[in-house]
Amino acid sequence: MPSSFPFSVLLLSGLGLLSCARPQASAPTRSVVIEAVKQQPDAVATEVPLEKREYGPGNPYAVPTLTPYAGPRKPLKNIILLIGDGMGPAQVTGGLIANRGQLYLQQAQATGLSITANQYGKITDSAASATAMATGHKTYNGAISMDSLGHSFRSIMWDAREQGKSTGLVVACELPDATPACFAVNHTNRQDLEGIARKYLDAPIDFMYGGGLKFFTQRQDQADLLAQWRAKGYQVATTPQQARNLTSPKAVALLADNGPARMPTRTAAYMELGFDKALELLGKNEKGFFLMVEGSQIDDAGHFNDTSYNVQEVLDFDQQVGKAFRFAAQNGETLVVVTADHETGGYSVVGGSSQTGKLAGRFTTTHHSAVVVPVFAYGNGSELFTGMYQNTEIYQRIKQAMDKHN
Ligand SMILES: [Zn+2]
Repeated sequence: MPSSFPFSVLLLSGLGLLSCARPQASAPTRSVVIEAVKQQPDAVATEVPLEKREYGPGNPYAVPTLTPYAGPRKPLKNIILLIGDGMGPAQVTGGLIANRGQLYLQQAQATGLSITANQYGKITDSAASATAMATGHKTYNGAISMDSLGHSFRSIMWDAREQGKSTGLVVACELPDATPACFAVNHTNRQDLEGIARKYLDAPIDFMYGGGLKFFTQRQDQADLLAQWRAKGYQVATTPQQARNLTSPKAVALLADNGPARMPTRTAAYMELGFDKALELLGKNEKGFFLMVEGSQIDDAGHFNDTSYNVQEVLDFDQQVGKAFRFAAQNGETLVVVTADHETGGYSVVGGSSQTGKLAGRFTTTHHSAVVVPVFAYGNGSELFTGMYQNTEIYQRIKQAMDKHN
């Protein structure tokens, strides 16, 4: 930061310590600058309604201590990648305070930090970052596993398939949305949701669970993609009851026209059903599976600068993390990696107590930020995820773990 910075802040603040009519005046002393800055009105407080800045208290859930698998080392069979969209360090902190000082995330056996910048060193969107994690390549914002010259990158889901594994996506957004799409298809523009939806018919994914039904059924080209899916041997569900009854190793559940509702309207049952069904169907494969689970709406809450929404989405996500850790602890042949594609909202936690579960948050932007995001790993191969590295390493290290045992 140049040393003239506080001086320009003063000029902009309009506090009148320096008259613009006398620009030659000597710079104020440091103590004058500090006093003036202290007197500045709190810009955020006037822009963001109070209720959007506070959470709690809610109903905490118990976080029992898991006993990690301690038997003989087994080959790696299953990979569960959980992506908290927009979940930076402060989002985790908010969840921690709200749940009275305990999260499943704390039981990770290895932690790291992921640098999320896109190919051009700029603040990433979900598409560029999911491309990095799904394919190992940095790209431009908006790209669904492609580069700016139109080359397609190969998703790690193809590698999983090649190793005989089953594959799955469980998300709290539209299925053609950027994060899941990067694991499934290649497309130049994340905004073309109908175009992406069509490509899902040839995606290397066995089980899909999310929203966005209308992109498959109410299309400009009049195509009924659900019928085409059935013709390819997929079972299709459009209600929770139908999703519960899925039995086929190839299945798709689209439970909302657009994105699924936000928490708490959505309730924990939504992600529970998707994750449990994925473990049930994909778990039948003796060669294992690769499952990506996304806490999609942590990002939405960040864009809306809504602390309460943010906390509830983080807590919903952490309970899925608990399910994944428990699964890995039981069988010793599963790697769980939890991370984010980027931080959203430039969020911070500025007040609160883990005794009461109440907290206050502040946001500095309605967009994404450049802040590094945490990585948590558990189970077979988790030791690979220590350190600070580019988001493309999420792909590289998972691939390394998968290839070691193939
Ligand atoms: Zn976003």
